[in-house]
Amino acid sequence: MKKVAVFGATGSIGKQALDVIDKLGWQVVAATAGSNLHLLQELAYKYSIPQIAVRSLKNELADDLVKRNKLISFAEAIEVAKEKADVVVNAVSGFAGLEITIAFSNTSKRIALANKESVVCGGKLLKGVKAEIVPIDSEHTSLLMLSEFVKRPYIARFGITASGGAIRDVDNPRDLSAEEVLRHPNWNMGAKITVDSATMFNKALEVVEACWYFDVDVEDVEVVLHRQSYVHSFLRLVDGSLIFAVSDPDMRFAINYALTYPEVRGSFRKEFNVNGDMEFCRIDEEKYPLFFYALDKFKSYGESAMVALNAADECAVEDFLRGSIRFGEVIDRIIDVVERVELKQEFTTIREIEEFDKYVRERYKETFGK
Ligand code: NDP
Ligand code: MG
Repeated sequence: MKKVAVFGATGSIGKQALDVIDKLGWQVVAATAGSNLHLLQELAYKYSIPQIAVRSLKNELADDLVKRNKLISFAEAIEVAKEKADVVVNAVSGFAGLEITIAFSNTSKRIALANKESVVCGGKLLKGVKAEIVPIDSEHTSLLMLSEFVKRPYIARFGITASGGAIRDVDNPRDLSAEEVLRHPNWNMGAKITVDSATMFNKALEVVEACWYFDVDVEDVEVVLHRQSYVHSFLRLVDGSLIFAVSDPDMRFAINYALTYPEVRGSFRKEFNVNGDMEFCRIDEEKYPLFFYALDKFKSYGESAMVALNAADECAVEDFLRGSIRFGEVIDRIIDVVERVELKQEFTTIREIEEFDKYVRERYKETFGK
């Protein structure tokens, strides 16, 4: 039985991770949330988690929990995980997840990493670290699985699919509200990634993520739009043939494999049969300009472009979710801010990345107010 610490346990991935860990018969030694102590407590009760922590405390229930040593500080949760866990699941959303990945990067643990922002923004710092970093993302986890079965010299390119998000059938999505964009056709995910899925910024993050995990260039990663989200990824072999990874759109497959890799264990089969339509098409440049813009910037400026894009994206998505701007403005604002900052940055420490992230957020506030 393995011991696991789950960061971001109250989120979409975090809750499913607790379920998967429970089904594997493994034990959760600590779990954390951003601020939702109420839900975290419920989950701790349901899954018998001995210690929990929140990043910021907004709840008076806490005193009693602290006395019982049930609620510990966030820093203590990291220490508990370092001491007791074999595997750390990082399911924190956004840039905040990077410092958690860094905190465990020099331990001999597996980091099951849903927080794609970690490798996208801090990839250079995370190359060659002691920890074993395994992706939790339907595309990358299934690519990892495929690449276990195909010898590397036979692989010409790595492919990932995109669903197109909530805007894919909308002719003019500029005026859509958050409520409309949050209605994702295939996946039920956290708010930020659902909006990123509609702008396809998420897919740009995933291309960079694929480059990091599989040590390839942007040109070696193909992206196609696939409405049904049955095919998550594919390998294009040197002879031109393709091998697809297919499963229900259910993140538990990815979470489970990230935990048990290289073993394939457990079962999440529903009634899935490959007898429906499977459509594939190119990504429309007019509909998803941010995808192309982000990858162009990455090709020219590398990681610093991704830190800037991600910071601007988090600010704009937050404003969008608050209802202060419409969908089209999310993209306009991100591009506006990224064009204002000097992108030629080299990072050698996490502090430098954090400072640059902060600098970009300040430019955003300066330009668009709070
Ligand atoms: P959610 O918004 O559903 O959950 C985020 C989790 O992180 C919550 O537990 C939240 O706590 C916690 N959190 C937020 N801010 C902080 C902070 N500053 N410090 C510590 N904890 C924090 O996100 P998702 O589960 O959708 O996504 C998590 C990550 O996984 C993202 O990086 C996303 O891109 C990636 N991912 C998600 C997929 C999905 O299907 N959802 C698919 C593939 C990747 P609280 O509840 O208290 O706010
Ligand atoms: Mg994905």
